[in-house]
This record gives sequence, structure tokens and C-alpha cells, in this order.
Amino acid sequence: MDNKKRNLITGGAGFLGSHLALKLLERGEEVICLDNFFTGTKNNIKDLFKYQNFEFIRHDVTEPIKLEIDNIWHLACPASPVHYQFNPIKTTKTSFMGTYNMLGLAKRVGAKILLASTSEVYGDPKEHPQKESYKGSVNTIGIRSCYDEGKRIAETLCSDYSRVHGVKVRIMRIFNTYGPNMRFDDGRVISNFIIQALKNEKITIYGDGSQTRSFCYVDDLIQGMTLLMESDYEYPLNIGNPNEFTIKELANLVKVLINPNLEFQYKKLPQDDPKQRQPSIQLAKELLNWEPKIELEEGLLKTISWFKNNL
Ligand code: NAD
Ligand code: UDP
Repeated sequence: MDNKKRNLITGGAGFLGSHLALKLLERGEEVICLDNFFTGTKNNIKDLFKYQNFEFIRHDVTEPIKLEIDNIWHLACPASPVHYQFNPIKTTKTSFMGTYNMLGLAKRVGAKILLASTSEVYGDPKEHPQKESYKGSVNTIGIRSCYDEGKRIAETLCSDYSRVHGVKVRIMRIFNTYGPNMRFDDGRVISNFIIQALKNEKITIYGDGSQTRSFCYVDDLIQGMTLLMESDYEYPLNIGNPNEFTIKELANLVKVLINPNLEFQYKKLPQDDPKQRQPSIQLAKELLNWEPKIELEEGLLKTISWFKNNL
């Protein structure tokens, strides 16, 4: 028997899942990607089949599955507001049933499980920057609730499986992340702005663009994710880049980097769109000795180059 780590990545054909899969395969570990291709693509995983240790399973996490694995990286869930609002009941079901099924699997085989949670558990935050101790300000009945509340109950399930059954859980609160392998129609702000700019279209700013986000390049995020899995920390941990920008600043930067002649088009701000978001990463620095290294302009240039080559 060989002692390579056997990893299951749910949502492995998605943006983050495909980067994580590559990183684990490059380390020589075994990777099973599981995905229903709701937002994931075959293109994201096509280069992974050259690794002997790679397998793919088409499956929906709302259904149970039996596998022999050591680590579960539970990422399956649409992440872009456009996609998670497309079928909100399915989003809640994926968050609850998917996490329940994966925790059941972790319990059965004694695997560690990392939940890809989100800064959305803080809702439209009244505390700034957001520390893990902040309990959040979330609307239970709005158009973002299927995702926000879905992730909150997923965190609750993880904590209860840890307390009741001793399952080893990791709860990663991911803040806005961007990079190669995002869908062209992902709908999130960075991919939207880059594609609009490359196509010479107007950049769509929702609201007046004064709302803020803090953007993390995918390589930094994946490094934080693997460090968290290897740690012993069983409570929620923020991973993100604390450098905060208004959406208008982001639009201006994309304009400067791609085409200074672009125009902006202002559109209605979606319901419950958080006004500000910035992670406190003090805890991640102390526990994991982790902090992001790639700043926005550098990350945007890498992402622009990928979109240019793949558009
Ligand atoms: P993504 O949409 O690119 O990837 C999600 C993947 O999950 C897709 O491949 C999709 O097909 C798959 N999936 C969805 N529902 C499924 C189901 N029922 N069964 C099986 N597979 C299913 O999104 P992403 O940005 O890669 O996000 C990955 C995870 O990280 C998500 O759980 C998301 O909530 C979390 N997250 C991401 C960000 C970010 O900025 N990227 C921020 C916060 C949290
Ligand atoms: N946004 C925008 N134009 C777009 C897409 C998004 O102005 O084409 C805004 C959106 O209203 C939000 C911010 O950018 O304030 C980040 O949106 P995204 O969907 O990327 O992520 P989230 O709101 O979940 O952080």
C-alpha cells in the first residue's frame, strides 16, 4: 500500500477547486475531483488528466457517496451571486445537504474536512474590518440569504460534527478571490470588468461604486487553504487580502491596465449588496504564519493575461 495522501475536492472543476487540485497533484498526492459542472468546466480540469494520481467523478454533493479518502476539501457550491441566485433553493440544499453528506463521509472514514466558507457569513458588516469573533449582520430573507445562511448552517454542521463525533474540521472564511480559471460569464466583479474592457465595452459599476471589497489573488488563497488544512485549528479563520478598494477604484485600475479610453456604465445596486468588506487576518498570521504576497495590480495583470489568451 502506498502512503500518498488521498484528497477529495468537491467543486474540483470550479475556479478555486481546479487550482487546489493542481497544487496537490504537483506535491505528488492523489486527487479525486467531484463536481456536477453547475459552474465548473471541463476546461478547468483538462490538463490535470496527465497526472496519474488524478481522477474525476461527476456527482452532485446533495447525494451521498462512499469513497476511501484522507482529506476532504469541501468547495462545492456556486460562489458568484448571479449563479447562486439562479436556483436559490438548490444553493441552500447544496450548502446544507452537501456539507451534511461530506461530514458523514469524513466521520465514516476518519478523514479531515475543510469547509470553504465565506466572508458572506458577516453579511453587510457593521464591524470593520471583520474579525472572526464578529457574529455578522445577515438578512434571512433576501436574495443573498440562500448563500449566506447556507454557509452559516454549513459552519454550524461542521462545529457540531466536531463536538459530537470528533470529526476534524477546518472552517475557512474566504474573502473575494480572483485569478485564472474564472468563467467568462462568472458575473463576479473582476472577471466582468476584465472581459468588458477586453471587448471594448462599457464597465458596469453597480450603485455609485463607493462600496468596497478586498481582493485576494488565487495563489495566495490556495496557500492559506493548504496551511489551514495542515494546522490543528478547528474554528473559523479568515483568509483574504486586507487591502481594501472601492469598486470605482477597481474599475479605474482595470481601465488603466487595459484601455484608458473605456467608459463606465452605472447600474442599479443589487439588494443587500454589502457596503464594505475587509478581512482582519491577524489570526491567520499568528496561527499559520500566512499573509498574502500578491498585490492587486500584479494579480490583475496575471488574470488579464489569462483572459486574453483564453477569450
Ligand atoms: P465556482 O463556482 O467556480 O466553483 C464551485 C464548484 O462547485 C463548481 O465547479 C460547481 O460546478 C461545483 N458545484 C456546485 N454545486 C454543486 C453540487 N451540488 N454538487 C457538486 N458540485 C457542485 O466557485 P469558486 O470561486 O471556485 O468557489 C469555491 C468555493 O469557495 C465555494 O464553496 C464558495 O462558496 C467558496 N468561496 C469562494 C470565494 C471566491 O471569491 N472565489 C469567496 C468566498 C467563498
Ligand atoms: N459589481 C459591479 N459590477 C459588476 C459586478 C459586480 O459593480 O459587473 C459590484 C457588486 O455590486 C459588489 C462588488 O462589485 O458590490 C463585488 O461583487 P461580486 O459579485 O464580485 O462579489 P460579492 O458581492 O459577493 O462580494
